[in-house]
Amino acid sequence: MENRTAGYFAQYAVPQEVISFVDRPIGHYIGGVEVHTTGDQIDVIEPFTGERLTGVVNGTLSDVDLAVNSARSALAGPWGKMAPLERQRLILRLAEAMSADADFLSHLEAIDVGKAISEARSIDVAGAIANLEYFAGWTSKLDGRTTNAVALAGETLMYTVKEPVGVVAAIVPWNFPLQILSWKLAAALACGCTIVCKPSEQTPLSAMRVAQLASFVGFPAGVINIVNGFGHVIGQALAAHRGVDKLSFTGSTPVGKAVGKTSLDTMKRLTLELGGKSPVIVTSKADLDRAADAILAGVFLNSGQVCDAGSRVYVHKSVHAELIHKLRAGAESLPIGAGLDPTARITPLVSSAHRNKVLDHISSAQAEGAALVTGEVSVPSQRVDGILRPTIFDNCSDKMRIFREEIFGPVLGVSQFDTIDEAVERANTGDFGLAAAIYSQNIDETIQLSRRLKAGNIYINAHGLLDPAMPFGGLGESGFGKDMGPEQLDGFLSTKSIYVQVANPSATE
Ligand code: NDP
Repeated sequence: MENRTAGYFAQYAVPQEVISFVDRPIGHYIGGVEVHTTGDQIDVIEPFTGERLTGVVNGTLSDVDLAVNSARSALAGPWGKMAPLERQRLILRLAEAMSADADFLSHLEAIDVGKAISEARSIDVAGAIANLEYFAGWTSKLDGRTTNAVALAGETLMYTVKEPVGVVAAIVPWNFPLQILSWKLAAALACGCTIVCKPSEQTPLSAMRVAQLASFVGFPAGVINIVNGFGHVIGQALAAHRGVDKLSFTGSTPVGKAVGKTSLDTMKRLTLELGGKSPVIVTSKADLDRAADAILAGVFLNSGQVCDAGSRVYVHKSVHAELIHKLRAGAESLPIGAGLDPTARITPLVSSAHRNKVLDHISSAQAEGAALVTGEVSVPSQRVDGILRPTIFDNCSDKMRIFREEIFGPVLGVSQFDTIDEAVERANTGDFGLAAAIYSQNIDETIQLSRRLKAGNIYINAHGLLDPAMPFGGLGESGFGKDMGPEQLDGFLSTKSIYVQVANPSATE
């Protein structure tokens, strides 16, 4: 471990067991053990210090074969034969092990992603555990149905059975590595599938820890496999692999489209959770204190690296000045610091390359005439902390890049509207449809708006709420299929229709 990182870890008393887990080459997790198939490593950078944290194995196509074969064997073997209640108990044991390990996992997310450790604990780790607990309960309730024939003559018994779709490949991005892994993992396990996960090569740590914990609590070898490496190699190979039955992808829209096309060549089942550019409408009837707090939380969570971030605000002209005042005051009071700083809310972005992309969006907003309210428009080159201060622009127009493109950083744009119809029309522009938020104290107005907005998730007087019982997913360029909620289960199950022609006993005697 390099010097500044060692000092940083000492300052925040990172537990020795976390340091030991990280300070070594990270392999794959295949067949119930960590494996190192090659010495070729990809550097994993600690976002606050900008130094090399560790190295992760640069996986190859033969590693993908190994993991898929391991997942297929587990499906044909002990996992496939296990009674649902036994599977349910194992999933709950994994959730318990993660609860006991919550501090460890929170540290891994804070040093791998750079995110605030308080958010890692309360959102990423707690959310992942809740997903497992919720889906564990579904394991024993995946029933088919019986039905009566409505057109067939004679007596026919007709019923359906639900079967696991098979081997699931999960491709997971770097912004919520543990939580998004849990979205795929919990439902796949509940449905009796086995899984091969590819984390982002920038953030492989928490997935490796979860796989290790699963072995500790008794999951059969091969049920949960992690293959590390680059997306264009490992992710692409999983999408193309004949041994994979279902692909569940979360990431950007262009990559999602590419893996989707590839996966259709082998007729995989497919879920795509992609990007967004979520609008926020603040009407003249909003509680502005509440709205400002929720808008700031919704766009600056995880330093803006959130797919459903509410990053373009449409505010009624009568309350515009007051809202801008509150947003500015709130943004300027957000605590800024290192991921491990327990008081920090705004922390480093995942990489300097990503920070430069966000800075490019900020420059373009300025060049296109948006008015800077507060924030950071350039970062001195000698500053290595990876942080970008919360930035707000006013007077944005729908043509500006800041209002059209996903930024994935701590940048908020604001624009005024005159009428609700105008706000709806402008909010519905663009090709994404992941989420939208409405702020108003008038219940009729909120319900009408919720029906008119084009998005898979609507938040009223809040932003970014998630619950395992509610499906999450988008429309249009934001993808299709759902994570979480009972709606997710069908994506991991095949429905088989069984017909029994019942002969008349008197005819056969
Ligand atoms: P990417 O699309 O670049 O990567 C997502 C995952 O796909 C990573 O594991 C990546 O691996 C992998 N990947 C990259 N190229 C390929 C390829 N050719 N074939 C197969 N897999 C590939 O997105 P980011 O990681 O940059 O994540 C940010 C994006 O994710 C944002 O657009 C955001 O909106 C979206 N997102 C959507 C969410 C949702 O639920 N709708 C939730 C969270 C994020 P590697 O990193 O190794 O290249």
